[in-house]
Amino acid sequence: MRIQVGGLSEGVHAYSFRITPEELGLPSEFPDGVDIKATLEKTSRQLLLRASVATTVEVPCDRCVALIRQSLEARYQVHYVWEESEADRIEPSEVQVMPPGQTVIDLSDDVRQTVLLAFPLKNVCREDCRGLCPRCGKNLNEGTCECRETLVDGRWDKLKELQSNNSKQAG
Ligand SMILES: [Zn+2]
Ligand SMILES: [Zn+2]
Repeated sequence: MRIQVGGLSEGVHAYSFRITPEELGLPSEFPDGVDIKATLEKTSRQLLLRASVATTVEVPCDRCVALIRQSLEARYQVHYVWEESEADRIEPSEVQVMPPGQTVIDLSDDVRQTVLLAFPLKNVCREDCRGLCPRCGKNLNEGTCECRETLVDGRWDKLKELQSNNSKQAG
């Protein structure tokens, strides 16, 4: 995923790429291609790249482990400069100094980093996912399991016991 910048005229240039997760070296959680839309603004002092990245991530639900797919979008920007002194004015994470004579910029590393950093930390298949029973492992979205019922019954027994004790004391 390279952009030829040698001989590029000053002004704004637009690019779009689609790249496979294999080409980008992404882990298997990213099953689909990655779409990149970028603009490159060239001035006498720098090249400013603004990119938006979109793909899909496939991860297990944190509660019930069902695989869920969700779309992922992220943006990043890079100032490519030729002079070290120019770099001082810019946020260090957003600047790259180009070696003299470099005529190509390669987006692959930055796109890969951006996608990986956008990886969601919390994943639930739906807000009210009931998860798995911690005792038998049944997916509670699909119905109630035996252990849950005995747990509930147990609570009722306790309550009945209390009630009968109370009534004994009252009487
Ligand atoms: Zn779930
Ligand atoms: Zn259970």
